[in-house]
Amino acid sequence: MPPKSLTIALAGNPNSGKTTIFNNLTGTRQKVGNWPGVTVEKKEGHLTTNGHHLTIVDLPGTYSLTAYSIEEIVARDFILDEKPDVVVAVIDASNLERNLYLATQLRELDTKVIFVLNMADVATQRGAKIDRHKLSELLDVPVVLTVGNKNKGTRELLETIISVAESDRTIPRTRRVYYGKDIEKAVDELSEFIRQRARSKVPYNIRWVAIKLLEGDRIVKKRISKAADPHGQAILIEAKWKRERLREFFDEEPEIVMTDHRYGFVAGIVQEVLKTVSEKRADVSRQIDQVLTNRLLGLPIFVFFIWAMFQLTFSLGAYPMDWIEAGVGWLSQVLRQGLPESIVRDMIVDGVIAGVGSVIIFLPNILVLFFCIALFEDTGYMARAAFLMDKVMHLIGLHGKSFIPLLMGFGCNAPAIMATRTLESEKDRILTILINPLMSCSARLPVYILLAGTFFGAKAGNAILSIYALGILLAILMGRLFRSTLLRGEVAPFVMELPPYRAPMLKGLLIHMWDRSKIFLRKMGGVILIGSVVVWFLSSFPLEVNYSRNYDRQIETPGSQYRAPIFKDQGDLLKQPVMSRDNADVSLKAQRALEKVEGSYMGQLGKLLAPIFAPIGMDWRGSVAVISGFVAKEIVVSTMGVLYAVGAEGAEKSEAFKLALRRSGMTPLSAYAMMAFVLIYVPCLATVAAIKRETNSWRWALFSIGYSTTLAWLVAFVIYQGGRVVGLG
Ligand code: GDP
Ligand code: MG
Repeated sequence: MPPKSLTIALAGNPNSGKTTIFNNLTGTRQKVGNWPGVTVEKKEGHLTTNGHHLTIVDLPGTYSLTAYSIEEIVARDFILDEKPDVVVAVIDASNLERNLYLATQLRELDTKVIFVLNMADVATQRGAKIDRHKLSELLDVPVVLTVGNKNKGTRELLETIISVAESDRTIPRTRRVYYGKDIEKAVDELSEFIRQRARSKVPYNIRWVAIKLLEGDRIVKKRISKAADPHGQAILIEAKWKRERLREFFDEEPEIVMTDHRYGFVAGIVQEVLKTVSEKRADVSRQIDQVLTNRLLGLPIFVFFIWAMFQLTFSLGAYPMDWIEAGVGWLSQVLRQGLPESIVRDMIVDGVIAGVGSVIIFLPNILVLFFCIALFEDTGYMARAAFLMDKVMHLIGLHGKSFIPLLMGFGCNAPAIMATRTLESEKDRILTILINPLMSCSARLPVYILLAGTFFGAKAGNAILSIYALGILLAILMGRLFRSTLLRGEVAPFVMELPPYRAPMLKGLLIHMWDRSKIFLRKMGGVILIGSVVVWFLSSFPLEVNYSRNYDRQIETPGSQYRAPIFKDQGDLLKQPVMSRDNADVSLKAQRALEKVEGSYMGQLGKLLAPIFAPIGMDWRGSVAVISGFVAKEIVVSTMGVLYAVGAEGAEKSEAFKLALRRSGMTPLSAYAMMAFVLIYVPCLATVAAIKRETNSWRWALFSIGYSTTLAWLVAFVIYQGGRVVGLG
């Protein structure tokens, strides 16, 4: 006998352990996270057992089967359209009531259902005792107990799946939610109406369809109007009419009344099957939450954690940074002395090593940052952060759920933009996508660390934090602006899920940290390497130029009335050897090198752009650096490494780099304006691509480029010129 093919779907609340059970069944390793919304797309796995070939599908986590969010739609459509042989409802037994809400709804679809009481260990720990036989009897479903992370109960589950799939017993639906006399009457009448006109055409349980139509479910409406053709319209009109009547009768939306009945139904079941053995037993999560999500303390504590994270990122990262720096310096010196003098040597030392080297030294900072984020995620604190931010998010017209992609933006905007898929409304999604690049990603961190480290000394950490805060503030302002103009809409109701706190495992933390840092390293060998070589090329050629010739003309360009101090100093640099004043031995060589760069393609481009960037306090080198940063924002630093540190030698290269920055005429004020500009201006290539992909339109991608660059210039202008007015520059 050939193996029989069965399709098994796993459905359940986020964080109930679906993916864990999926992995137990299939033996694969999908990402498991203590984090609602980890599984957005459904995943498939296979196994063969006792002559059955099983396809297991891990559906996205949902709280109900309405059509509010993409996850709910994905999960529901799969069950309705693919008609799996068995649906396994994974229930977090330690949170019985809320989890049963979904499970009981699954039971109302035309499909065979098994209830799995997972997290049986947590439930026991909390002193909860669930009578599974009673539950099974009450709802007429098989109930299996499991402890997912210990792989307990997997065998029994597998056996139950197969026996349920094999049995051809139809599922009795006697014990179902009773919606009260008036609604039940409407449901019955509407069901009959549908049955008479389109019985064979409606592919779903008709009672269920009638209920959904009375609730005004937009997706079911669409499906039915198509499937029940030519009677689709008549059915919709009938449903609408009945819905209106119910609304008048209850003086409330019918779906709200129906939801109440469902909760009541579930509460009744819980009353029957759940016995709490000892009420006194401490619920640790709840106690921790009394502090961490406290109405008064919660937000300050959250801000403190974020502050501590950046302090740690900056201070802890500084030690290995020195070592890597020394290593890079040593390498470049050895190569310079060891290789014969040639263009290739210059390209390797001044292009590749100077460029990649100036970025790679930030790896420790990035590791620390990602470690902290992994810690927040794995302990369950991240969900609290979203919960706390719910009120703040309402300022933008979004709810706490949008905070998750925004927070992920601090790591990298591109995946963060993908994470907006968990949002219900299209407008919320686009809004969240548009403001996401204002969350300062880790690629921008090297720029801040370089500039703040050079110009703000001990206050560098605070300066950087203020840039992050500026990004958040602008996100709120722009969010409000977009919400009231381009993307008008209501905030959909939403309750944030709070998973229990769990002690993180070091291994998990390291894996999460590494997963994200890998992207940074991969960029090192890819775009940053290539970018550095291109920048080096453009700044080294043409080889012979008459450098100082067009310089004066440039300064006097009419219209550049905002003359940044940089230009003054550069003029000094050319006329008198400023460098030699402090550093006698490098002067002449460095000056020659600088003049060469000024005449290069890069220098010419920079000078062309100078009138645009001068008012925000950036010299031509800075302008070229930010332009090259469109490819990837780390390249801003590597370009600056090539352009500013030019002519500096050997191990003291990074010190010379900083010195050169200070000498270039950059002040703390112009450095800060540049940091702000880098924060806000055009998202990097990967992010623009993600915006295009996720909004499915070039319009939003181009809009994002345009608005961010304009905003960046304006903000930098206000900072720089404002600062000069009050005497900071
Ligand atoms: P999903 O969102 O439903 O896919 O949930 P996951 O499979 O990602 O699990 C969420 C978290 O619960 C993970 O940290 C799992 O290790 C943990 N977990 C899963 N099953 C159990 C269980 O039976 N007991 C305990 N204590 N933890 C579990
Ligand atoms: Mg999952």
